[in-house]
Amino acid sequence: AKAAGRGTWRLFEPEMDTEIQKRRQAEIDLRRAIAEEQFEVHYQPLIEARGGVLTGFEALLRWHHPERGMISPAEFIPLAEEIGLIRAIGAWVLRKACADAAGWPGHVRIAINLSPVQFVNGHLVQEVEQALASAGLAASRLELEITESVLLQDNDATLGVLHRLHDLGVRISMDDFGTGYSSLSYLRRFPFDKIKIDQSFVRNLGGEKGSIEIIRAVVGLGKALGMNVLAEGVETAEQRGILEVEGCDELQGYLFSQPRPVRDVPAIIAAHPMA
Ligand code: C2E
Ligand code: CA
Ligand code: CA
Ligand code: CA
Repeated sequence: AKAAGRGTWRLFEPEMDTEIQKRRQAEIDLRRAIAEEQFEVHYQPLIEARGGVLTGFEALLRWHHPERGMISPAEFIPLAEEIGLIRAIGAWVLRKACADAAGWPGHVRIAINLSPVQFVNGHLVQEVEQALASAGLAASRLELEITESVLLQDNDATLGVLHRLHDLGVRISMDDFGTGYSSLSYLRRFPFDKIKIDQSFVRNLGGEKGSIEIIRAVVGLGKALGMNVLAEGVETAEQRGILEVEGCDELQGYLFSQPRPVRDVPAIIAAHPMA
């Protein structure tokens, strides 16, 4: 509480008050969004660098706020993580994306982002198994994307969950590679199938010195460890050309397609060569 009316000092500045109010409102809105299913999953294709074959789609969450319109996951996922709602949201995304993917051709995989919070005291493995079973989707068609922040909860439980998921036949991808730290030791200790090079390195291609060398190093690392290497945020033909020459296995970005609603997926699949 603030020391209102005393005229001496205030614990909270008025601006801070509004910040807290905004947050409370956001929390109420987020709870309502779950109850009223205001979420939607959009899909962005993953493309083989050589030949342009479509290998799958990444599921990216969207929130249609009744008054504020479309809200970016970068804005509401941190809040959802903080107040624990990410478990319910994450479970919903798993079920929805697996169900959608079950209707696509068999060579098309689905990549789903996991929050670190979903690894803590949860039922992640059961949730994944249930999502696959109720969708009738083979585990080999599911990729789970985790960031290094998951690995910071560096304990046997996290490692155990990752191995159990991997043992189901699910693929594990290291997302946003290069933006955290200690990546190299984690890469050896955890069962990754794919490294996703963060888009910040791709954005600087052709500009900032050293970006090509970083891409080259990560590709070499991936090859040495038997992992697929995907580059994110590919927007130009020039970037695509460089990444192909450097030996990236897969590419993803606006050059190929923005994330699109599920109804657009068949047309995107049809526009790319088959495996
Ligand atoms: P991310 O997993 O790194 O996803 C890639 C982001 O880059 C997406 O932003 C995508 O729309 C955007 N992107 C794709 N291609 C390009 C490009 O060529 N240029 C640029 N500038 N951007 C591109 P989005 O959809 O806003 O998602 C932001 C982040 O929110 C994601 O980053 C991910 O960390 C998180 N997120 C999204 N959906 C989920 C989800 O279902 N669960 C969890 N836990 N996190 C999610
Ligand atoms: Ca991702
Ligand atoms: Ca990423
Ligand atoms: Ca990211």
